[in-house]
Amino acid sequence: MNADALVCRVALPVPVPRLFDYRWPTDLPANPGSRVLVTFANRKLVGVVLEFGLPSIDIARIKPVHQVIDPALPVPEPLLELARWAAAYYCHPIGEVAATMLPTALRRVDRPQPRPRLAWNLTSAGRAVDPGSLTRAPRQRQALESLTRRPMESDALLSAGVSSDVLRRLADKGWVERISAANLSEHQPTAGPSLTEAQAAAVAQITAKLERFSPLLLEGITGSGKTEVYLAAIRRCLELDRQALVIVPEIGLTPQLSERFRQRLGGRLAVVHSGLGDPERAQTWVDAARGRLDVVIGTRSAVFTPLPRPGLIVVDEEHDLSLKQQDGLHYSARDLAVQRAKMLDIPVVLGSATPSLESIHNAETGKYDHAVLPRRPGAARLPEVRLIDVRGHLPEHGLSGEVLQALDQHLSQGGQALVFLNRRGFAPVLICNACGWTAECRRCDARMTFHQADDQLRCHHCGMEQKRPTLCPDCGSSRVIPLGVGTERLAALLQRRFSQVPVHRIDRDTVRGRTAFADLVTKVMTGQPCILVGTQMLAKGHDFPGVTLVCVVNIDQALFSSDFRATERTAQLLTQVSGRAGRNDAGGTVLLQTHHPDHPLFEQVLRTGYGRFARLLIRERQAAAFPPCGHMALLRAEALKKQDAERFLDAAMGCLPVPPEVDLYGPMPSPMERRAGRYRLQLLLLCPDRGKLQRFLRSWSKSLFDLKDARRARWSLDVDPQDSI
Ligand code: ADP
Ligand code: ZN
Ligand code: ZN
Repeated sequence: MNADALVCRVALPVPVPRLFDYRWPTDLPANPGSRVLVTFANRKLVGVVLEFGLPSIDIARIKPVHQVIDPALPVPEPLLELARWAAAYYCHPIGEVAATMLPTALRRVDRPQPRPRLAWNLTSAGRAVDPGSLTRAPRQRQALESLTRRPMESDALLSAGVSSDVLRRLADKGWVERISAANLSEHQPTAGPSLTEAQAAAVAQITAKLERFSPLLLEGITGSGKTEVYLAAIRRCLELDRQALVIVPEIGLTPQLSERFRQRLGGRLAVVHSGLGDPERAQTWVDAARGRLDVVIGTRSAVFTPLPRPGLIVVDEEHDLSLKQQDGLHYSARDLAVQRAKMLDIPVVLGSATPSLESIHNAETGKYDHAVLPRRPGAARLPEVRLIDVRGHLPEHGLSGEVLQALDQHLSQGGQALVFLNRRGFAPVLICNACGWTAECRRCDARMTFHQADDQLRCHHCGMEQKRPTLCPDCGSSRVIPLGVGTERLAALLQRRFSQVPVHRIDRDTVRGRTAFADLVTKVMTGQPCILVGTQMLAKGHDFPGVTLVCVVNIDQALFSSDFRATERTAQLLTQVSGRAGRNDAGGTVLLQTHHPDHPLFEQVLRTGYGRFARLLIRERQAAAFPPCGHMALLRAEALKKQDAERFLDAAMGCLPVPPEVDLYGPMPSPMERRAGRYRLQLLLLCPDRGKLQRFLRSWSKSLFDLKDARRARWSLDVDPQDSI
């Protein structure tokens, strides 16, 4: 090929579903995956070269590539393949897919220099100090204790709750010193418990097929030892000098998890989470691409980590909604993980106590292998679950007499209690007692939540804030009062009622940043009696072994949602929250307050357990050809003027003949029709056959880009939507 006349086809981050041609510099090898700086519509953009070819017109008329960024570090071919697949499957412009895949810093020319990772080491002076003598400085003591075993990366210390402040103080005393993480000697992994029969069988099932694509659903109740299975399988993978990728819903909230992996695996491990800066993320990507990392643990976007020596992919809490990206490229990290494993010909393990109906269905139809951990190891027992009928006699503060009594009892016996309420803020409603006015968001079909700490009304949907009015804007009365209970109010109430123990609130308002949560964990892990009040943040995979009582204050609204997945999600949440109790030998109690004690969901979930309930739901879905037995896509449109969104969806419906197998519903308003000042509508597509739906979506989505009404509305196509119909 004449190198003077080579064009590269570039994926650019623009909402156009095609590649763009540029002249390739003659002096550089033509590597697909190269990141390039080019001019597009008078802007400078960074894109990724997917292909090379010969020009179809005079090469001199084709715009040149301005710069090839890090020519020695192209995006590896397997990731390009994944990008092509995702673009086709999700019907999304390839350039935006490529951009979603890369850490921000690698999509810039003026890339901040990757920062070498730092670690901390005890000096000889530090070794001479007895940590036990530091009774008045518990953080410093904890830092010294952690470092006695081995030098640790700053990030690992941070996850363990040791802030950089503490380290600086110790450095001032000359007890610790900074070293480059590259010099960390690999420590010996610590041994884990000997596996139960069920665990060993699951590990054997995974490791028997390490050399080929084999998806496995690991279904194990909370605390049954799924993580031990991952650890054992990953160790096997490390012995073979292969890399493991672990995807979790929220690593920032689970410092214990990353620390457990570090201690148990040895090897070179990196954790990717939202608390990392761009340079660190980029550095992890580069290290992984060069094969310098053995294990990468991260949230959703970690599914795009390069793996030159791929061995195993694990998706923990595979049912969790946060694995699905809800804007831009609407991808499911779980589904992409399975697709990636297929392309790389390696095993993938999907683990959960409450698997998604999709994965259960795949296991039932034989697409996935299946392993079950039916029991907690050792003496740990499952909690006893009781329904509390609160019809007609629930006091204003929202806690029944039984719940208060149980709290009294468990706390006085030295237990810890967890009170779950999925609603943050002080009160969900601010109401005028004189005329009935309520505070509503101007931009959304929603009420504003009252937050007492800063005396503000806040919309949880668009983020709008305003001062709390002292007088009713409608009638001028001063009787404007908060109605209902959120976590802020509940925590205050409980603190007054149980003043002898600390009450910790855990929600997005109180837990900002990783250290806040780690600090809290440190406090709770001392085992002292306390009450934890929080939203579903509490239900997410964090172990508080001292918790003997779990109270679910209000689950009722979830029972009557319009979303067809509401039952499944409620069952998952109930099971996950209940699973927080009785992690230790003492067993535990779960109390569920409800106005609908006869609701069949309670009966079924509590009596038969989540697994059986989920299988019943699948039978129901089968009849209606709903997911997982049928396949779904959602075309959403939003605009400042409702007609603009409507007109776009009407045009979309008419632009291609819809095959008879595809059912089309709508246009209909989205569950919250107006949000952040925009009207939102949607079209739902349903088809029993995935292939047929895919074929239609592909040609359809292409014509959507050409619709002239598309310019007046924001629109997106969501393949396998997870919420809101
Ligand atoms: P899961 O991931 O299913 O929630 P974990 O792997 O975190 O469960 O295990 C729950 C608890 O049980 C942990 O404290 C773990 O150390 C312990 N554990 C797991 N497997 C065993 C085993 N085979 N023997 C003893 N303890 C175990
Ligand atoms: Zn009023
Ligand atoms: Zn709003």
